[in-house]
Amino acid sequence: MRLILVGPPGSGKGTQAKLLGERLGLTHIATGDILREAIRLRTPPGRKAKPYLKAGKLVPDGLVNDLVAQRFRRNDRPERFVMDGYPRTLAQAASFDQVLRQEFLDLSAVVLLAVGDEEILRRLGGRWSCPKTDCKATYHDPTKPPRTPGICDRCGTQLIQRDDDKPDTIRRRLEVYRRNTLELIPHYERQGLVREVAGEGDIEKIYNNIVQVVPRENGPC
Ligand code: AMP
Repeated sequence: MRLILVGPPGSGKGTQAKLLGERLGLTHIATGDILREAIRLRTPPGRKAKPYLKAGKLVPDGLVNDLVAQRFRRNDRPERFVMDGYPRTLAQAASFDQVLRQEFLDLSAVVLLAVGDEEILRRLGGRWSCPKTDCKATYHDPTKPPRTPGICDRCGTQLIQRDDDKPDTIRRRLEVYRRNTLELIPHYERQGLVREVAGEGDIEKIYNNIVQVVPRENGPC
């Protein structure tokens, strides 16, 4: 199974991609996480990307395309995966199409998570994340708070509100989504891959909505 999840920031892409990864054994590839890790490690791509993430803008296509292409050209490239946050522009979709073609990998579906703007603002305003790289648990005040306020249930680390989850940045990220990412839909519709799923309701219900629309697996891919 090879999936792309598309949805506005706060649509639950990350949560659903993680569940799909765990339950269906797919490699979860989140470009936001790859970029935040590169920033933390102060690598050259990390240094370039940092101001864009802080401002809630998309990093240049070339930079993120290179990071993804490198991941797919390694010996341990993912065979079965769920993409979370990539591609986000038409140019990225074109680059990813080419990488997949070269690697002889076909996509199974592009899942569009549909969530209204008001719901997005409500969700993202209360989002807290664990900054520890091997944990990255996310919480939400008031729907999924940690047991001890401000502390990660899993590893005890102090939770943070990501710069890009602050209100002004959220608004900018929504504009960016409408301007750039929605263009992906006609691109993948032409390939017959788009499946729209209601992204509101509880996490398990949304997960089931997704599993119902993606093709069943009957082989090793
Ligand atoms: P995310 O965690 O997916 O919400 O991404 C956080 C931030 O990382 C975004 O607001 C962008 O600045 C950057 N980013 C992540 N993925 C991409 C991408 N595919 N293209 C450009 N920028 C990205």
